[in-house]
Formats: sequence, structure tokens, C-alpha cells
Amino acid sequence: MKRILVTGGCGFIGSNFIRLQLSEYPEIEVTNLDKLTYAGNLENLKDFESHSGYQFVKGDITDPEVVNSLLDSVDFDAVINFAAESHVDRSILDSGPFIQTNIVGTQVLLDAARKHEVNRYVQVSTDEVYGSLGPEGLFTEQTPIAPNSPYSASKAAADLLVRSYVNTFGFPAIITRCSNNYGPYQFPEKLIPLFISNAQEGKSLPIYGEGTNVRDWIHVMDHCRGIDAALRKGEPGQVYNFGGHAEMQNIEITKLLLKLLDKPESLIEYVTDRPGHDLRYAIDCSKAESELGWKVETDFQAGLKETIDWYLDNPEWVNRIRTGKYREYYEQQYGTR
Ligand code: NAD
Repeated sequence: MKRILVTGGCGFIGSNFIRLQLSEYPEIEVTNLDKLTYAGNLENLKDFESHSGYQFVKGDITDPEVVNSLLDSVDFDAVINFAAESHVDRSILDSGPFIQTNIVGTQVLLDAARKHEVNRYVQVSTDEVYGSLGPEGLFTEQTPIAPNSPYSASKAAADLLVRSYVNTFGFPAIITRCSNNYGPYQFPEKLIPLFISNAQEGKSLPIYGEGTNVRDWIHVMDHCRGIDAALRKGEPGQVYNFGGHAEMQNIEITKLLLKLLDKPESLIEYVTDRPGHDLRYAIDCSKAESELGWKVETDFQAGLKETIDWYLDNPEWVNRIRTGKYREYYEQQYGTR
């Protein structure tokens, strides 16, 4: 595994994955293809800009010319697709970009990777494709796909396309499905960074419904190590689930954040629930544990504390994002609170 193409590497998880590759594998050459949407931030990899094994290409995965000319110019051993529109709330406002990037973009990448006979393709997907659980049970790789939001439907459609390329063409693709990530460089529209920033500024923390929705949280580096294990040790055609063994109600994590930040619970503000809000996600990752030798390494409370410290230590990073385009969207969602 010498030359890899990472798409969406300027986003939250992709940038952490590139950081991991360049830090752990001295021989690796990483090309990062990213459109730099509102969520793509070159600053996320600023310290690797002059690394000899790193190359950034600005481009759109939905453009076959861009993708094919990149694959013509470099003989990649693998493609890892992180590029996506990733925020459920935005998919409810406008699903168009989700269909384009998440579905059409995946098809363009699959066709180009197949044409160029790339040896490994990893589709980075989400546990949200499985839909919602009741109070009991876990998603396994056999759980039927039943997405409930335009975001998860677009990711599920992409997963099905990947599956079809495996079965129709024998294309060597792997799908990974992971639960909610937290950690450094996450765009501050997602719950944890949003609430850290709001609490610091003494603003309210808008929590959907009664805050009883349950999510499983995983540190982004544990997820990245999982994707790396799937890339290097996974079997083509297989799906691998990753989770953090850290199920929490949204209200519980919010109270924990406030406690760690030493801020009052009076900042919590209950807002109208998200339409179609999935009640509970919980994941069985025993297959990844037994077949890939992967396991969660980060203790949730320690990881959360470290994440809070990262956001508090990097106010410029947060502020630059919270003033630009993000502002308009934020105000549309939450008003000026
Ligand atoms: P993100 O929104 O932080 O980053 C997405 C990146 O993709 C950005 O850099 C953006 O510029 C880029 N991008 C968007 N459209 C593009 C296009 N058409 N062409 C090229 N680049 C484009 O997302 P994230 O949270 O880092 O998620 C990465 C992947 O992991 C996504 O596929 C997401 O579905 C999946 N995932 C995320 C989570 C999570 O908790 N964040 C959990 C499981 C799976």
C-alpha cells in the first residue's frame, strides 16, 4: 500500500485519517482530492502541507474528467472515499447536494477506480444506513438497510452501488459503517463542537426534542484506525461495522459536556425535534474486532476531555469557521441565539 487516493480529506474524519497515514507509514504517498465545500478546510492539514508524501488536489468527485485524469496521472493502490455531504439537518433543508456528491460522486469514483484497476476501494459509510433501533438490540453487518433521512438514504444508495460493483464486476471494494465520531477538527455544526463553542460563549445549547435520542460515540482516531485496518486487512466485498461502545442519550452527553466545561445546565434549550429523528443507534463491531484485530482504544470520558481541550486551545480555528458561510446556515437553523 504505497500510493493512496483519499477523497474528502479536508473534512473532519478524512483529515484525521491522512494525519494517521502520514504519521504511521513513512513510505506512504497520499493524494487528497477535495472540493473544499463549506465543510472542507485546508487548515485541517496545515502542518502536513510541505510533507513530501502529501499532495492536495482541489476537485469534485462528481466530475469524471477530474477523477479520471487524476487516476491516469498516478497509479493508486487504493481509493478511500470520505467525500460526502455529511450533515443530516442540511439534507432535510436541501437533499440535492447529497444525491450529487454521495451517490453520483460514488458512482464516478467506482467507475474510474474499476477502469484503472485499483486494488482496493474503501467506502466510508455510516451506521445511519441501518435506520433506527428501539431500546434493545444492536446493528450488525446483516441488519437490513432502512435509512430514514435524505442523508442516510444517500449514503445507503452509495453502499448499494458499491455492493453491486462487487457482485457484478468482482470489484475489490470494502464498506465500513461507523457510529458518531467526535474529536479534533470536527465542523462546529455537529453536536459536540457546537455545544462546546456555545457553552464557552454563554449561548444556549439547542437540544432536539427531549434529548432522549441515543447515539454511540467513537473517537475519530479509533474510527480512522478501523478504516486503516479494513484497508490493509479487510476482505474485498465485506462490510465492517465500527462503534465506540459508548451509548449515550443526547441529554446525557450535553450534561457531561457542561460539567467538564464547568458551565450551568440552564444553558440547555429544548427545541422542536428534527423530523424523522432516529431514536437509537447502537452498533455491534465484533466482526471488526475478530477479523481485523481492531478495538476501541480511547476511553470515552478521557477522549471527550481531550476533545474539549483541543477546541479550547484552538479558538482561531473555531472562530474562522463560525464567521464565514457557516454563519448563514447557523442562523437559518437556530436563529441568532
Ligand atoms: P465532513 O463534512 O467533515 O467532510 C466532508 C469532506 O468532503 C469535506 O472536506 C468536503 O469539502 C468534501 N467534499 C464534499 N463534497 C465533495 C465533492 N463533491 N468532491 C470532493 N470533496 C467533497 O464529513 P466527515 O464527518 O469527515 O465524514 C466523512 C465521511 O465519513 C462521510 O462519508 C460520512 O458520511 C462518513 N461518516 C461520518 C460520521 C461522523 O460522525 N461524522 C460517522 C460515520 C460515517
